[in-house]
Amino acid sequence: MTALPLFPVTTVGSWPRPPQVEEAQRAYRRQRIARKDFDRVADEAVVAFLRLQHELGLDIVTDGELRRDNFYSFVAQKLDGVRLMTLAEMLDVVEDKAGFERLLQTLDVPAYSISSPICTGALARREPLTVDDLRFARRHTDRPIKITLPGPYLLTRAMFVPELSRPVYQDKEALAEDVVALLRRELEELTSEGVDFVQIDEPVLTEVAFAPGRTRTFMCAALAARSDPAEELAFAVSLINRVVAGFTGTRIGLHVCRGNWSRDETTLLHGGYQALKGCFDRLAVTQLVLEYATDRAGDIVAFPDKELGLGVVNPRTDTVESAESIRSAVEYALCFYPASRLFLNPDCGFGTFSNRPMNSEAVAAAKVARIVEAARDLRAG
Ligand SMILES: [Zn+2]
Repeated sequence: MTALPLFPVTTVGSWPRPPQVEEAQRAYRRQRIARKDFDRVADEAVVAFLRLQHELGLDIVTDGELRRDNFYSFVAQKLDGVRLMTLAEMLDVVEDKAGFERLLQTLDVPAYSISSPICTGALARREPLTVDDLRFARRHTDRPIKITLPGPYLLTRAMFVPELSRPVYQDKEALAEDVVALLRRELEELTSEGVDFVQIDEPVLTEVAFAPGRTRTFMCAALAARSDPAEELAFAVSLINRVVAGFTGTRIGLHVCRGNWSRDETTLLHGGYQALKGCFDRLAVTQLVLEYATDRAGDIVAFPDKELGLGVVNPRTDTVESAESIRSAVEYALCFYPASRLFLNPDCGFGTFSNRPMNSEAVAAAKVARIVEAARDLRAG
């Protein structure tokens, strides 16, 4: 692993996509422009974001997921056997239409505006999910690079729709086998290309732990889980551990939040990470990347054998946190983790869905600049 300063600063999820990327994404989806034309626009945006991260002084950079429509739906473009469907299209095929309609009503987004990758055939990789993104970023930065990957539990749960997936996969477990194999192959290639940090995103775990069978907070987990949350979490842990098994030389993080798709904090999940303690204890990852800048996350929970990616700014507010408040949050975290195991980051991404970013680039950059300032103060102290 590359040597890093104390309190390394990085981002977590997507950066707000510039309007020209959004426009090119739309045009490409409607087959009005060619892939190479989309790539040209996205490449430029990624280079600009890398430059911004250099200027802001981030220690670990990302491509801001600028090529993606959202953090997991992009897999539909890269895999055979996966089709991007809006929730409204899914309503036409699911058997429990009444239940699905109730679910759609609990989401504060229109059903046609959110797309999910749905498994409709045998999974096969047409192109890597992220390896090309790593290669591209490497040509434009000499800083350590973090790559974000949707987790195996999230992908399996989001992609399995019995009415569409059953001709190939009898159940979720069967689909999960292919998802695990696919993610392992991705990790093998990322590590052989010298990736510095891989962050696996499994935001839905909070919903399993906090609200089993009741509300559905994540569009990506619209479909039924087991009724027993402990069993469901055990399934998630086994999938994640199978994906990461053997990759001991690479820093692998797991990001878990409580939803990041609305500025209305009351619609997002509440609850501390204590409810996931047993699950996190069993995970064979280097780092937990967790939100703590929102009161909804409760008190810090210590995981002595892991690093903590400490969320210190809220991506969904206009108020820019002060360096002083970030410093005191870090000082408090030092009661639970040694300095050598603390990384600093926003709670989640600033973009989320390309057409509904949670914040402007200006506010996002100002917040990240404050994290860098706080980290420098802490190092000097
Ligand atoms: Zn998140």
